[in-house]
Amino acid sequence: MVVGIYPGSFDPVTLGHLDLIKRSAKMVDTLIVGVLNNKKKVPVFTEEEKKSMIELVTKDIPNVQVEVFEGLLVDFARIKKAGVIIRGLRAVSDFEYELQMTQLNRQLEKSLDNIFLTASLEYTYLSSSAVREIASYHGDISSMVPAQIIDLVEEKYKKK
Ligand code: ADP
Repeated sequence: MVVGIYPGSFDPVTLGHLDLIKRSAKMVDTLIVGVLNNKKKVPVFTEEEKKSMIELVTKDIPNVQVEVFEGLLVDFARIKKAGVIIRGLRAVSDFEYELQMTQLNRQLEKSLDNIFLTASLEYTYLSSSAVREIASYHGDISSMVPAQIIDLVEEKYKKK
């Protein structure tokens, strides 16, 4: 049984993330989407909000689970008995960071390997930060996030 972890901030989940989830779920038996609770960053959405948005948009993919984690990814992977980490590459700028993280993680846990998926062309430009920026000015995010969460994202910026 191959368990894969797709870790990230998902603040909020985008169509680019969902594309990666769908594609990587076909490669592993169980895919755990790991929502990183990064104590150094203050997210716009709480961990529980992020988790429930991802659950909502992946509810039709049976082998996907969503979990919040904190601390080192290698420790989370050990607990979950995961063998692979899934990450996405949008541009060369992602590559440098991802390569460094991969090598660090492999230093800490030799048995952990990585799968990098290149972003689908239509989502190459897409990031959670772009979604937050546009939503904060009440712009149209309908081509950027799954339809089920558009209202939830917009609502967040109405309250502020
Ligand atoms: P992080 O803060 O860990 O980079 P993100 O939530 O921004 O978390 O991204 C999680 C992963 O998804 C990263 O590997 C990132 O490169 C990838 N990713 C982000 N946006 C896209 C996209 N539009 N298409 C494909 N992969 C993406």
